[in-house]
Amino acid sequence: MLKSMTSSKRVRFKSTPAKDNFIKDLRRRAEDYFESNNISKHANAEMYFKTVFAVIMWLFSYGLIMSDMFSHSTLQLFGVYLLLGFVNIFIAFNIMHDATHDAYSRHKWVNDIMSYSMDFIGGNQYLFRRMHGAHHGYVNIHGIDVTMETHGQFRFSPDEPWLPKHKWQHFYTFGLYTLAHLHWVTVKDFKWFFGESNIGNQKNIQHPMKEYVSLFITKGVYYGLTLILPMIYLSTSWWIVFLAWIFMHLLPGLTFALMFQVTHVYDGTTYPLPDEKGNIENNYALHVLETTADFSRKSKLGTWLMGGINIHVIHHIFPKVCHVHYPALTEILRETCEDHGVLYQENETFMQALKKHYVILKHLSHPDAEVPRVGKSAALV
Ligand SMILES: [Zn+2]
Repeated sequence: MLKSMTSSKRVRFKSTPAKDNFIKDLRRRAEDYFESNNISKHANAEMYFKTVFAVIMWLFSYGLIMSDMFSHSTLQLFGVYLLLGFVNIFIAFNIMHDATHDAYSRHKWVNDIMSYSMDFIGGNQYLFRRMHGAHHGYVNIHGIDVTMETHGQFRFSPDEPWLPKHKWQHFYTFGLYTLAHLHWVTVKDFKWFFGESNIGNQKNIQHPMKEYVSLFITKGVYYGLTLILPMIYLSTSWWIVFLAWIFMHLLPGLTFALMFQVTHVYDGTTYPLPDEKGNIENNYALHVLETTADFSRKSKLGTWLMGGINIHVIHHIFPKVCHVHYPALTEILRETCEDHGVLYQENETFMQALKKHYVILKHLSHPDAEVPRVGKSAALV
């Protein structure tokens, strides 16, 4: 049970004035950027365009499935389902992620409505806010960064108890990533609603009754729209529709799992641990810079499609800023890092990032693998 693995300590960042200098300067420069350009930190015209694009693409791909034009060919039906799967991932990265961080709009009600895009693509926005928040606050800290908790399936951290099967994790992990989206829409939310009472640093959670009701209604809508209705109305066999539905989650699942994983779990990251009082001796921004790496920063199309997930450092430092501002803020971040002698980690291409992900998975497949606990910022007092 995850309960027994999560830390019983309340973990907090304990910084020093020298460590805080960097973030104070970065915040000031970022504020200057928004003020001098007279722009909001939230959605702009590009973001509204993305939102309309996402809706049109969803209607288009779902329309192709329901048109019955592709049902005569299993391959073609799989193809249109796959398109819907990728549109769902686009919605997750570009709309849902911003909304659940309250970064889409300055109006809470707009963020609340847009957050339901998570439920619309098969997840649960309430649980995502709680779990993703636990990841954000405590990147790579074993026991409370919930993205590292896989019930022993993988060893993403040296503090995860080693199991014999981890010997092969640098092979099987990539296969299991393909099941990430399918697992999310069918198992994960139910497991965390009914099987766990702690999420990271949040202990003995009692979920509101309305969230249980919402969970069943929205899952019902997702299954109904994407599986049951096509099973009823398409002229092909129900089991072919079922297989196409399964297939819809596989490649998109692998895509989103890799996009996310390479940013934190890579050769060169650190795994800080709290002391006996629960303190992490660092400033949060410096902690992020030592546990997170960007990739494909210069790819405009990649950044656009991935909703800025690839320029991930700035997202962790300013999670309430809409992702359309990340490229400009990342330039400010790089300059500030250079001025303060702080290391900014990035990979030019996704393949470089993927290779480093493979290297750390292989390294952690050994029970006695040593990893860095602190980065250069430990020298600042
Ligand atoms: Zn986030």
